[in-house]
Amino acid sequence: TSLVQRYERRKKPRIKEKVFEPRPIELRSDEIVDGVAGLIGHTPLVRIKSLSDALGVEILGKAEYLNPGGSVKDRVALRVIEDAERQGLLHPHTGSRIFEGTVGSTGISIATIARSRLLFIAFNTAIIMPDDVAEEKVKALLALGADVERVRPASIVDKKQNLARQHAIHFGHPEPFTSGRPRLRTLSSCIVVTTTGNGSAKSKADSPAAEERRRLEPRGFFADQFENRSNFDAHFEGTGPEIWRQTSGRVDAFVAGAGTGGTIAGTGQYLKSMNEDLEVVLADPEGSGLYNKVKHGVMFDRKEREGTKRRHQVDTIVEGIGNNRLTNNIELAIPIIDDAFRITDAEAVSMSRYLVRHDGFFLGSSSACNLVACVKFVEKMGWKDGQRVVTILCDSGNRHYSKFWNDDYLRAAGIPVDTEITENLLNRP
Ligand code: PMP
Repeated sequence: TSLVQRYERRKKPRIKEKVFEPRPIELRSDEIVDGVAGLIGHTPLVRIKSLSDALGVEILGKAEYLNPGGSVKDRVALRVIEDAERQGLLHPHTGSRIFEGTVGSTGISIATIARSRLLFIAFNTAIIMPDDVAEEKVKALLALGADVERVRPASIVDKKQNLARQHAIHFGHPEPFTSGRPRLRTLSSCIVVTTTGNGSAKSKADSPAAEERRRLEPRGFFADQFENRSNFDAHFEGTGPEIWRQTSGRVDAFVAGAGTGGTIAGTGQYLKSMNEDLEVVLADPEGSGLYNKVKHGVMFDRKEREGTKRRHQVDTIVEGIGNNRLTNNIELAIPIIDDAFRITDAEAVSMSRYLVRHDGFFLGSSSACNLVACVKFVEKMGWKDGQRVVTILCDSGNRHYSKFWNDDYLRAAGIPVDTEITENLLNRP
């Protein structure tokens, strides 16, 4: 055989190449929607193949990271703003300022929607957030034109801390607080918010601020996702019914974490109202008091107190879920939560790496936490016959490059960055 013939033969593939038919792209919706608000909600429910195959149970994730503001919080921000407009608390013709305390996602959602509600002047957004959340969230907020103030997150259990001082800030004021004796002063556009912490500190701090606001800046509106019923309603009337429709009512468990509690309370209550046998399961990160509340009826015992303190002494790795205070929205959830799991940072990190490797899902920290809880719950129940568990994929990994998706940062914090924990979890008999 000539060289040319040999070359020609080598060019031919030995095995007949498999021809992949391109799959027709199904439109999520064939309507033309109006502005960013039109893109919110109606997210797909996606089967997570690696976990479903390993468990013999369908693990379905509600792909909330596809919302235009990048997280499940778009639903809440839209509902809060719409309700406030209906109640005349926001004034589109003169412009209003919306205030919120958040670890970032809600702020980004509010800022996104606020900009789109333009009649004469768009609503302005002022966001107060803990200073240890991922930098990219701050950048997103600034890009959206929000004012951002960062505060040290306070620990509920450290009595030496002045909670009110920790949680209160004087928005736009050059010297935030006098040191020493706790003192609250308020300014015109001041808002005082807690993101994690003590309810009494919050109300102590919030009421004078609210009073000042009414007097000096009557157009200020506090979104207050932790206590605002609109948060619950967004899920009770949106997320819950969507899941019910998408599963044709065949759903055995709903798993979610709780930050404000809106998602688990609203979605959980709706799904339970449709099927009282459905199990509602809480995924709670390290340092949160909610696991204890569900399991033992109290947020803290001596042992837990240490765990909680630790969380506030180091940066939070899992962002957006966990709480040490009973908010209105969490209180709506407590009676319907059937089981709870404490998820470590290492477990969440491992799950996130496992899902990228096996499914190509690039998820944020709270989504990873939720999925660890799904696996733990299914194994605890001994389910393996095609039962269905639905959870929330709250946001994407691209909100978390500087912390949860930063391997160097995690290793420095003593957290292993591999898939071993998840593999062990899935291989358990
Ligand atoms: N995941 C992320 C990324 C969040 O920002 C939040 C809200 N803080 C949650 C989950 C928890 O949702 P909820 O506030 O409804 O409990």
